[in-house]
Formats: sequence, structure tokens, C-alpha cells
Amino acid sequence: MRVDQFPKDIQPYLIPGPGGDLIYRCLNCQKEFGIRHLLYTCPACGHVLLLYDTDFERLKKISGPMWRRIFDYRRMLNIPALNGIYRYHELIGPVLPLDAAVFLGEGHTPVVEANARLQKKAGIRFYFKNDGQNPSASFKDRGMASALSYIRYLLQQGYVSDVLAVCASTGDTSAAAALYASFLHPDVKSAVLLPHKRVTPQQLSQPLGSGAMVFEVPGVFDDCMKIVEHLSEHYNVALLNSKNAWRILGQESYSYEIAQGFEYDMAGKAVVAPVGNAGNITAIMSGFLKFHDLGIIEDLPRIVGVQSEHANPVYKYYLEPDPEKRCFEPVQVKPSVAQAAMIGNPVSMPRVIRLVAEYNRRAGQQKVFVEEVTEQQIMDWQLRANRNGHVVCTHGGECLAGLVAAKKSGKIAADETAILDSTAHALKFADFQQMYFDNNFPPEYGIIPRDELVNAPELVCPEDLDKVPRPGRPLSGDDLAHFVQRTAEDIAMRLDLKKV
Ligand SMILES: *Cc1c(COP(=O)(O)O)cnc(C)c1O
Ligand SMILES: [Zn+2]
Repeated sequence: MRVDQFPKDIQPYLIPGPGGDLIYRCLNCQKEFGIRHLLYTCPACGHVLLLYDTDFERLKKISGPMWRRIFDYRRMLNIPALNGIYRYHELIGPVLPLDAAVFLGEGHTPVVEANARLQKKAGIRFYFKNDGQNPSASFKDRGMASALSYIRYLLQQGYVSDVLAVCASTGDTSAAAALYASFLHPDVKSAVLLPHKRVTPQQLSQPLGSGAMVFEVPGVFDDCMKIVEHLSEHYNVALLNSKNAWRILGQESYSYEIAQGFEYDMAGKAVVAPVGNAGNITAIMSGFLKFHDLGIIEDLPRIVGVQSEHANPVYKYYLEPDPEKRCFEPVQVKPSVAQAAMIGNPVSMPRVIRLVAEYNRRAGQQKVFVEEVTEQQIMDWQLRANRNGHVVCTHGGECLAGLVAAKKSGKIAADETAILDSTAHALKFADFQQMYFDNNFPPEYGIIPRDELVNAPELVCPEDLDKVPRPGRPLSGDDLAHFVQRTAEDIAMRLDLKKV
């Protein structure tokens, strides 16, 4: 729909222009820094930063109900930049002009209600939000769209040139970084660091296909992270890990979409997400807090972070009920099928600690929880979900396992409605499914396949056939007819089909 076809009172708000005043603020020493330079850590004390709009109050001149109308009407516009995360421009990157926005089709992923059978099995009403349907097949595209739009803005302003973007990754960050950087090639080139043999072949194929320089490093993600931190502190590179606060801003779109998708009614809702480096859960909390602050939503949803017992530092931290006594300890990770969350020392932990406290305070009660699940539960629930119409990755399975556990432990009530984050597409993690079906998980995973969830192809080749077709050597005439009939009979027998 064209702008002049919208109601008159909404027209001035439809297409956002640059506004606001973004600054980096250190979560430790509170010092503030301008955004003309890319910063990842506080130049004064080295701690992590978040981006704040010092002019956020201006947005309160527009009422909550009016904001809802603005976002709902924006859905009908055919302006690419507003079809992605920048539908919520005022909250995500208000200083950026729309022509800096890089839009590759990210965001606005489907929310799919589980069928009655699966809801019954889980004992609660729930939906999956399929973030695997983003362009590089994970939610990381939301944050990369934001980070690369900002870099494009710096390029346009002449503040930077010839950017080399780097990141460490459990697979999906590098896929997204390489994809978005390739859109801005050659002004932006990218290099990604991956833990050797700790990303799936599909994930490895992605940055290679996007033309990034790919480095495989021994160790786990936490080791790669140390190396890119060293690079970003000593060399002229743009860090694209979620230490980069622009990533967090973009990922807030996930919360905004959920709110909009449920008519801004967050009462009785629980949002469940896996926690690895903890950038995602940071963004989810931050997003709902901003919507709440502007009166766009009246209730803050419950938030449940889920971790595997093989990578559970955040879960362990919150086991201590007394905030004064809590003490963060990194953990040694063990192999996990929720491989993208296999992180022992989450970079965003200081952000999480701060936002959880603020979220609970604003809600007037505890609303953020962390749940722990086993590797077995993750695989079983992923496969169960996908046998009921979903395409969720292992982390989606982790969310569903976490939902069931949280309901059991009373962290979620049975009458709530949960929205689960399938953070990537099932196909990225097909190898874990295969290990399950073949019953060859290395022992450290502790996963034993359940017969009813195992599946395998059957080769149909009746023994009495002397001629079968091959690529380039088709059958014809009686040979083909015989082949078709015998093979069909064999399949009919295996399927126990009745003749009509
Ligand atoms: C990155 C990632 C996670 C973990 O998100 P964090 O922001 O690191 O906590 C979970 N699932 C998938 C598929 C991911 O790519
Ligand atoms: Zn500081």
C-alpha cells in the first residue's frame, strides 16, 4: 500500500527518519562513549557495553496504542528496509537513515502453533517461532542486519573504509556475518574463526559459500573468542560477535515481533530461549523492557532461558537464590547437540545479570528463570517436535525440553502459553539426527536412541529383477513395466497396502 492511502494521522509516522541519540554505556563504570567509533568493550575499564538512546523519552510523546498502530500499518508498506528489523526502527537503530539499512530478508519469521497431540504430550499450550527461516537459517541474521547496517552507515559517512569484519563462532554467527558482509563486498570483507570439528558441515559451507576467509582453530568456541578479542584489541578489525552491542539491538526485533504477533497481549505468555553466549536472552529481555516502557505492552512475559547440563554456567549462577551470594563461574563445556550454545563463559553474562534484575524489578516479581535439560531430552524433544509438523533445530528441541522441565518445576504454570525459539533450521544440525538414528553418538553425549523416534531409509530392489535403471541408463518397454510392477508390489507389501 502507498503511503498516501493510509489514514492521515498515521502518515507522518510511517517512514522513520534518523533520530535519537545513541551512545555506548559501560555496564561497569557507567562511562558513555559516542558511536562514531566501533567499540566492543569500555575503553576506560574493559567491560561490556550496551547501546542506549539518551533521547528515549521523546518516544513517550507517542502513546502505546499509537505505536501499535504505527507498527501494524508499517506491515502494509512495500519498503524493503521496513520489511525487516527496521519496522521497529525507532527502537533498533534510530540514528541510521533507512538507506543504510541492509535487508536480506531477515525477521518476521513464522510463529507456528504446535498441534493438539504435541501440546498434550508437553502438557501446555505452545508455539515455535521459526528463526531458522531467516536468510542464513538462524536468528543471528537479526543482529547482523543491525551491525552491518551500522557499518554501512559509517562507510556512507566516510568514518571508516575497507572494513575487515571478524568473528568467532559456533557456526551460525559466522554464517550470518559472512552473508551480510558479502552484501557489502568489497567495502567490507570478512574473516571467521571456527572451533575445528565443532561446527556442522552445513554451517561450515555457509561462510565458505559467502566468500569469507575461514580459519579453523583447535579447541572450543571460548578459545576462538579469546583470539578474536585479541585481534579486535590490537588490530584494525570490526568485531561482529555479540560483544558488539549493535548485534543486541537487532536481536531485540525478536521480542517486538512476538508482541506484535500476539496483538501486544503478553499476559500469561512465557518466552523460552536457549542460552549460549547469552546475547539472545539479553536482547529478548531488553526488547520487552523497551516495549513495556513505551506502553506498547502492558505485561512483561515470563522469560525462561534453557541450558544443556553440558554447558550450564548461567543455570548454575542462578541456582543461588540470594543475589548477594551469587558468583559467576565459567564452566568447562562438554560436547552438546545444542552445539551453538556450547559456551562455558558467556560474553554477555554482565548484561544478563543487569537485565534480569531490572526485568524482575519492573515486573514486580520474578519473571526470568533458567532451566537445565539433558542431552537426551534435547534430542528426544527435537525429534518429537519434527514428527509433528515442525522443522526445529536441536536448540528448538532444547527449548521444548526446557518448557516441559519448567512446567514440572513450577517455573511455568500449566495455563500459560509458551513461545519457543527454534533458533536455527533443523537442516543445519542434521548430523545429530543421523547420529541418533544410527545410534552412534560418542559416549560423552550420553544419548540412547528411543526406538519409536528412529528412522532410516529402506532400499527397495526386488531380488528377482535382472534389470534396474541407473542414471544415464533408463529402462524401457517390458523391462520398465516389469521393474515398476515388482518394485510397487514390494513397497505395497512393506506398507501392508490393500488392493482396490
Ligand atoms: C548463537 C545460537 C544460540 C545461542 O545464542 P546466544 O545469543 O549465544 O545465547 C542458540 N542457538 C543457535 C542456533 C545459535 O546460533
Ligand atoms: Zn567501563
